Amino acid sequence: MSELSRLKGVGKARLEALQGAGIADAQALIRCLPREYVFFDEHRAFSAARVGEKALFRAKILKFSQIFARGLSIVRATLSQGEESLEAVWFNQPYIRAQLEQGAEWLFFGLLTISQGKRQLVSPARYPVSSEGVQPIYAPLKGIPSRTFGGLVQRALELAVFEETLPAELLRRYAFPAVGECYRAMHFPASRSELQGALARLAFEDLLFFQLAVLGEARAEDGAPLPVDEESLKPFLNLLGFELTRAQARVLGEILRDLGQKRPMARLVEGDVGSGKTALAFAALYGCAQCGRQGALMAPTEVLAGQHYERALEWLKPLGVEPVLLTGSLSAKEKKLARERLQSGAARVAIGTHALISEGVEYQNLALVITDEQHRFGVNQRVRLSQKGRAGEAGRSPHVLVMSATPIPRTMALALYGDLDISVLDELPPGRQRILTRLVPEGKREALYGFLQRNAEEGGQAYVICPLVEESSALDAANAVSTYERMKKALPGLKIELLHGRMSGQQKQEVLSRFAGGEVAILVSTTVVEVGVNVPNATIMVIEDAERFGLAQLHQLRGRVGRGVKQSWCFLMAEGGSTLQLLVDSGDGFEIAQKDLELRGPGEFMGQRQHGLIDRRLLALMGDGRLLERARAEAEALLMRRDEPEIRRILELARAAAGEPARN
Ligand code: ADP
Ligand code: MG
Repeated sequence: MSELSRLKGVGKARLEALQGAGIADAQALIRCLPREYVFFDEHRAFSAARVGEKALFRAKILKFSQIFARGLSIVRATLSQGEESLEAVWFNQPYIRAQLEQGAEWLFFGLLTISQGKRQLVSPARYPVSSEGVQPIYAPLKGIPSRTFGGLVQRALELAVFEETLPAELLRRYAFPAVGECYRAMHFPASRSELQGALARLAFEDLLFFQLAVLGEARAEDGAPLPVDEESLKPFLNLLGFELTRAQARVLGEILRDLGQKRPMARLVEGDVGSGKTALAFAALYGCAQCGRQGALMAPTEVLAGQHYERALEWLKPLGVEPVLLTGSLSAKEKKLARERLQSGAARVAIGTHALISEGVEYQNLALVITDEQHRFGVNQRVRLSQKGRAGEAGRSPHVLVMSATPIPRTMALALYGDLDISVLDELPPGRQRILTRLVPEGKREALYGFLQRNAEEGGQAYVICPLVEESSALDAANAVSTYERMKKALPGLKIELLHGRMSGQQKQEVLSRFAGGEVAILVSTTVVEVGVNVPNATIMVIEDAERFGLAQLHQLRGRVGRGVKQSWCFLMAEGGSTLQLLVDSGDGFEIAQKDLELRGPGEFMGQRQHGLIDRRLLALMGDGRLLERARAEAEALLMRRDEPEIRRILELARAAAGEPARN
């Protein structure tokens, strides 16, 4: 019988839900930390909150209404704080309506966004105005609402016996709470400062364990040298049809030097959107194949993996290097075939999503692992891909190349990746012009449509990107659909198509290839096209409700255009005077990323809200920049004493943690 079923409130259904989420015992339950907290004494004025931020407001309900659109219930309420008002909206929660009452006052906690130019609070949770203290909020689990989950955790904490995971001397030196106390404070903090103390301990522990794994690994000189020189890359470079930029040639040299060593490569290539990272990845894959070994390229989305695969058919296959595509949306039969070709070695190059690291995928002799847009992956996913290589041939570590369009400050790179060497592609291929960027207020929408019409008549193409509505693909899709319909009405003569996350992998590919083939004038899309898509004839990028995006993400999106010779444009639907003005003034990805980091902090900056290990490491960096250096120094000191039993026990724990799949 599972230990969990001893908890009061856990019956058969809940036990199944917990186990389905990978929560096998009380310890695992306790390690599922709240995703956020509501501090009831921190409510504020509407005007004091920023778009894109979660906040708590005390407000009265002035009026409310409910409509049904496309089978979706939408409840809207006007909230008031004296003179000021704000609209709240609940999607697909029809029962909310019955709970609202005109004139009632509540505390509302939710995400402040902007939609069609108006601020709104999305699906806020409500609490009585008399609420006190702190409310933890957990990620939703099927059949177990957040509050119930908190209750289960409470009971698990009462029963749990904790094994201390840090050496006693470190607990003393840094005045960290002991492990049990730390988890209690993470779930039910008495105050912000208690929460911060617990968070600091967990973050330090993550950093320490990670540094132990990294430093332990760096010692190994167990890679397979891949002797590749410029000469043997000639056939590939000739096929490209362009000269490498000076920056590309320099970074390629650095990659080849690494590949030739017994010590496995661990290199991060940072380069602005369009700087030509893909060609370098394929050069390395080609070289690896020439040495008779396999390479893998992992991308964060199916769309991007698909594009890389197309590239592989164009750049590698004619030279006799067989690529194979492996993504989640392939049929079972296709997956089986792909796995066979990787295991037998018939395919030299694997391209795909994280399907590449799923259970049951084996490689004949994987020696090179490349991840594109790495910041979208957890560190553990990289570790797992490396482990696939080690499983293959006499436990040798593969070479690792990481590519990112997001410039990552040095300390952050250390925290995220450990000991990576960094190469910077600081030059764009010739002939790229500045993408002219404008803020377009709602009142100028007609004029913008006129511009799109004329552009299409001249054979040009455009993207229209819609932001996420909420953390729900159904609603993102609905938002994109309504934009799509509005555009079709406004521009009846044009071929307009739609792309969103609810479509199948195959449907997406079909739409994209029609767009790439020039059959489609305007592509209305959610952010699935964000990374890597390459259609040089598309010269206009329109971004709806642009304030919903971060600056760095907008810069990435904008990088989808400006890839051909024609002047390119980016139109941000936003009122004047916003921080988005920086995008109008600057085309420098590094400058924009720096500003974004300052404005939003590291967690948001790195992409979607991430939870689990990485996020905590980043939080720690924000709170105390020296924490990382300390963790590193302590890791080095512990490794020197690796023969002591207590230290050996900690090292075992660290090793187990590094191989764990990312939490949450
Ligand atoms: P990113 O660094 O954003 O991944 P890509 O690798 O997708 O950029 O390259 C963007 C475009 O530039 C692609 O069409 C690619 O073929 C092209 N490209 C890459 N390197 C060069 C070069 N040296 N000269 C001309 N075009 C290049
Ligand atoms: Mg790319």
